[in-house]
Amino acid sequence: MGGRLRLGMIGGGRGSQIGDSHRLAARLDDRYTLAAGALDIDPARGRDFALELGIAPERAYADWRAMVEGERSRPDPVDLVTIATPNASHHPIAKACLEAGIAVLCEKPLATSSRDALELCRIARQHGRIGAVMYGYTGYPLVRQARAMVRDGALGRIRVVRAEFAHGGHVTEIERDSPNAAWRYDPAIAGPSGVLADAGSHALHMIAWIIGQDVAEISAHFDRIVPGRRLEDNAFLTLRYEGGAVGTLWASSVALGHRHGLRWEIFGDRASLAWQQEHPNHLVHCLVGDSPRLIERDGPGTDPWSRRSGRVSGGHSEGYFVAFANLYRDLADAIVARRSGKEVDAATYGLPDLVDGAKGVKCIEAAVESAARDGAWVSARLPDWTQEGSEQ
Ligand code: NAD
Repeated sequence: MGGRLRLGMIGGGRGSQIGDSHRLAARLDDRYTLAAGALDIDPARGRDFALELGIAPERAYADWRAMVEGERSRPDPVDLVTIATPNASHHPIAKACLEAGIAVLCEKPLATSSRDALELCRIARQHGRIGAVMYGYTGYPLVRQARAMVRDGALGRIRVVRAEFAHGGHVTEIERDSPNAAWRYDPAIAGPSGVLADAGSHALHMIAWIIGQDVAEISAHFDRIVPGRRLEDNAFLTLRYEGGAVGTLWASSVALGHRHGLRWEIFGDRASLAWQQEHPNHLVHCLVGDSPRLIERDGPGTDPWSRRSGRVSGGHSEGYFVAFANLYRDLADAIVARRSGKEVDAATYGLPDLVDGAKGVKCIEAAVESAARDGAWVSARLPDWTQEGSEQ
């Protein structure tokens, strides 16, 4: 397999919400060395933290532009860059990395407009670059189990879905004292949507990815519950899928009493499945005419892909970091395979790719437009060229 891959990181500085999760996940399977970073909007703080993490001084960059330039002119550039900055900078950073020949793992949402997201898909296709989006919850073994079951026909025709990512983290005006929360309601940094882009985008992607149907049309209602917010902190969506399924999605940051709040149910004509991220090692499965039963992570009859996605046998509690680590591990396999000349991309490994990221951005745009038009149905379809050569 060769040595470890070289990982670069942009954003994810000290005290950031998601930086440590990436670093821990990347380390879990010993596939990467953190070799370079532009970790913080504040250059001195970023460099200081990079040195503390063991990054060599000449690769502890003051800003992301210097990092892309510095890395592209090295004989040993980074193999992958993780982009963990707030939303508005994802597009320029990902574009620069892809153009410099570096694979990217970008945080969601991939961009703040579908035009920008599609541009990234085009660049990656034209130049044969690998790109993935950190819809990290798709790495849970039982989420992969659900996707495998739908693909095997175990649920029959998918009729109805119901998804939530409704947390209670922002029930008060937390953004007054928390810079990490403040940008999430600032359209210049977050983009056109608040909690739908921030949280709901995970649930939107996860359902489409599991059932193998893209969202066709969206009707949305947005609320700004906490006074002063410029973007929605509560969103209700009704969804029509390409394959005929219908569904609802609730995204909220004011769901008092909910902790993380990601959960879903999928109802087919042969069976249904239900899962919640706070109990990730159990999937509730119900066949027509039967009582619900639990499918356990690594349990009897589980799909090999799902079993491979764990690191310890069933019965042990396992979760969040392993889910993220699965994306890093699979991405390492994709990068190594591409190096050896194989025609692979992130989707080959079941990973959310840049087209998935663009679909998410398009859904956000459609929902924003629908909400502004009092819930009118708005198309969430991407141009046909995005589907060509894709796995789904
Ligand atoms: P945060 O505000 O907590 O941290 C952002 C970090 O990026 C800080 O360290 C900041 O200094 C740095 N930064 C900002 N601009 C920069 C720039 N131009 N160059 C270099 N560094 C820069 O934000 P967060 O909650 O960690 O979110 C970051 C991204 O991750 C967002 O896009 C968010 O949507 C996403 N996110 C994803 C998940 C997930 O589950 N996949 C969870 C949380 C956040």
